[in-house]
Amino acid sequence: MKTDVFASRHIGIREEDLEKMCSVVGVKDLDELIDQTIPHDIRLKESLNLPPAISEYEFLGLLENLSNQNKVFKSYIGLGYNESITPSVIKRNILESPGWYTAYTPYQAEIAQGRLEALLNYQTMVCDLTGMEVANASLLDESTAAAEAMTMLFDLRSRGQKKDGVLKFFVSDEILPQTLSLLKTRATPLNIELVLDTPANFEFSSEYFGAILQYPGKYGQVNDYSSFVEKAKANDIKVAVAADILSLTVLTPPGEWGVDVVVGTTQRFGIPLGYGGPHAAFFATKENYKRNIPGRIIGVTKDTDGNRALRMALQTREQHIKRDKATSNICTAQVLLAVMAGLYAVYHGPKGLIYIANKIHNYTKIIAKKLTAHGFEQVNTCFFDTIRIKAQNVKSLRTITESKKININYIDEETVSISINEAFSEKDIRPLILCFLESQGINDDTSKEEDLDEIITASLARKSSFLQQPVFNTYHSETDLMRYIKKLERKDLALNHSMISLGSCTMKLNAASEMLPLSWANWGNIHPFAPLDQAKGYQLVLKELEEQLNIITGFAATSLQPNSGAQGEYAGLMTIRAYHHSRNDHHRDICIIPASAHGTNPASAVMAGMKVIVTKTDEHGNIDVIDLEEKVKEHSENLAALMVTYPSTHGVFESSIKYITSLIHDHGGQVYMDGANMNAQVGLTNPATIGADVCHLNLHKTFAIPHGGGGPGVGPICVAEQLKPFLPSNPVVKTGGANAITAISGAPWGSALACLISYGYIKMLGASGVTDATRYSILSANYIKERLNGAYDVLYTGEKGRAAHEMIIDCRPFKTNGIEVTDIAKRLMDYGFHAPTVSFPVAGTMMIEPTESESLSELDRFCEAMLSIRKEIDNASVEDSNNVLKNAPHTLTMVTSDNWDFPYSRQLAAFPLDYVSENKFWPTVRRTDEAFGDRNLICTCTPIEAYAEA
Ligand SMILES: *Cc1c(COP(=O)(O)O)cnc(C)c1O
Repeated sequence: MKTDVFASRHIGIREEDLEKMCSVVGVKDLDELIDQTIPHDIRLKESLNLPPAISEYEFLGLLENLSNQNKVFKSYIGLGYNESITPSVIKRNILESPGWYTAYTPYQAEIAQGRLEALLNYQTMVCDLTGMEVANASLLDESTAAAEAMTMLFDLRSRGQKKDGVLKFFVSDEILPQTLSLLKTRATPLNIELVLDTPANFEFSSEYFGAILQYPGKYGQVNDYSSFVEKAKANDIKVAVAADILSLTVLTPPGEWGVDVVVGTTQRFGIPLGYGGPHAAFFATKENYKRNIPGRIIGVTKDTDGNRALRMALQTREQHIKRDKATSNICTAQVLLAVMAGLYAVYHGPKGLIYIANKIHNYTKIIAKKLTAHGFEQVNTCFFDTIRIKAQNVKSLRTITESKKININYIDEETVSISINEAFSEKDIRPLILCFLESQGINDDTSKEEDLDEIITASLARKSSFLQQPVFNTYHSETDLMRYIKKLERKDLALNHSMISLGSCTMKLNAASEMLPLSWANWGNIHPFAPLDQAKGYQLVLKELEEQLNIITGFAATSLQPNSGAQGEYAGLMTIRAYHHSRNDHHRDICIIPASAHGTNPASAVMAGMKVIVTKTDEHGNIDVIDLEEKVKEHSENLAALMVTYPSTHGVFESSIKYITSLIHDHGGQVYMDGANMNAQVGLTNPATIGADVCHLNLHKTFAIPHGGGGPGVGPICVAEQLKPFLPSNPVVKTGGANAITAISGAPWGSALACLISYGYIKMLGASGVTDATRYSILSANYIKERLNGAYDVLYTGEKGRAAHEMIIDCRPFKTNGIEVTDIAKRLMDYGFHAPTVSFPVAGTMMIEPTESESLSELDRFCEAMLSIRKEIDNASVEDSNNVLKNAPHTLTMVTSDNWDFPYSRQLAAFPLDYVSENKFWPTVRRTDEAFGDRNLICTCTPIEAYAEA
């Protein structure tokens, strides 16, 4: 083996296993299998035009060189992004720990109690700091969270408002520019009319359903909005506030004014700037609206034995159920970053957070005092960490500050703002002040800093306590926090334990070399609105990544802005919308979506102002072409788009795909390809070849960004020439096409830091490596299919009987033995495996996707577990539910209990196959009770007793 070839590390199958696997599959070699799997008319004729692979060692050297082309300035730009210090104990044990970053969204609660607890801490932190009752487990960024707040309030309009067509939404002129841009994007297709003005001018007329304020304002002004909120309430207008989370440790939280929603970012709780992300946004609201909250909520419930257990609450609200009735398409969120931010609060505790806030506030006061002493006017009447300064000569001030490697925010020709952050220290005062003095020809700072005035008035100062729960007051030494993190991590099954064969999610290797640069300061400490010439390293990487993705998809251009697959769907549909509008086809608003599509598809279409028409699938799982033809003809006049997943969510390469895409084009529609299954295409076919016009890619599936337990994600869209002009922009740093739509994410390049991972993936694999990844993922899936043959029926296959990179096995027949698909999922935990995707896209089935990264021995272990479970199913019966499947998973407490009255042995319960005992993973709770938890929603770490008493 060539030890420096990354492909041989990324791909789990050894060369010597290939022959055996091919013979099990029944082909002479891998090429033959691929020929039988992918229709010939869509195969690429040539290999991808990517540069040759480089070794891991070379890649790290390259990234170091590139990182040195970024210039790390002191950043006082603010605008929603502030430098923050990641405690090393969190960096090492979370950000750099595969036990955390390779975990999946915690759908299988029994093997996810660790991150569920970390997320519950996060929700508690958000509720306490904002003064609200319920919070979700993160959204994508502050700007999208603000847009989600607007659409939730829109959806919550009172009956009268709906009847009278009340469509106006008030936006404070203090709102961050990127948030305003996003509100515009989201408001337009829903016909919401935004009105931007100073809150003091607002007349609370009955034409408004809601309002959003920024607290503190974008340039730092802190206002008391209690009477605004009071008047709004009296006039049936709901209020959202975008707030700075750290400021809420010292300022009155908006919840105490009675607002309806509070959103913001937790970036400054220990998360690197990363040139824009990934960071976790928060969303907090009132208990009354719990069923309308976008995203996921972690809740407390009990397990089979009545013990406390955590799980995702109200899961039925997700788009999978609501589909075109959904008001949000959020799926992947920012779990890893939320975990980090929550632990930041655990580590510092309430006192530590107040200390940090006060330190920042004091430095801000000192700077304000010094500048005013030298004759500069400071405009904000009340501030937390940001002051607004009048400076006669902003141009020369800028030259001076940049020469001193300092960035501030240049508002206009005579005003700047300065935002102070956690990394600011005593020695940073003088250089900053001197820039201002120099711009006025003053050469020394003679001002004093004693006798600082109180800035935060009594009415604005926070009086209520927060974070009094034990978890925020216990782990304040490094040893304690390290052990707490380890304790949580041990409860969770991640890729560092075993294969996670989640269909549609592509849980492949997230290589250490891809991840390492994320910890480097020259990538972490760049503000998203820093001047381009300070971010040359980033610009080179992002541009090359865009080119790599253009080559892989066959398209003309890429936008890296969307922060998840679902955001990509929305962005892609919005470019299609803009395209139709540019041709005066304003009426084209029909979006056809196959019944088997992922729930985010219809949700995104509705958000983009489209009407969803569902087209059937035939008995082979393919799009029913006859039905599609009928629908296309019926809606020809108004057809906007078809959304299609390829290979389909049924795990098949439909051979009629080219006919389908041309049919849509013939009727004036555009084709959106959901790229979640791109792992079955790369290097062998591509979206342009099948006739699509735009696709999103899930870089957190196909391109090796780890799932992080439910995020971060990156969902770029790649588009054909005609859609390129409409790629999304950013209001601060110009990005996107010539006729760009407004922002899809707050940051110009979305989660730029995470893009380094996919860049590395493609660089280190090169054309042949990325193609082999596809080939081996198809081989592994077909190998599993053959090994399970006879025990489990595969629901759908291609024309030649092959699966793509994943397959659906039917578990419905086992109902005759009283066994449901969930029982199999839970029993797999006893065997040390995370279940495949359950009941998507077909209820009662499992979708298995092994990926290319697993070795033959791991594939075999999984197959043996499945075959062994199949025998257990044969032994089960409807009459007697006291069996090893229904009782699964089995915990250590159960198995070591002095009482054992189950009709099978402890050994069978916990160690059903030999390999299990050698590396046993113990689920820490028994099956969780969903219904109980949803009836008694508790989503903070307040002890249950407190609720029982209330
Ligand atoms: C994962 C997935 C999505 C949504 O992607 P997110 O990044 O979670 O928003 C959409 N469609 C399909 C088929 C998927 O598997």
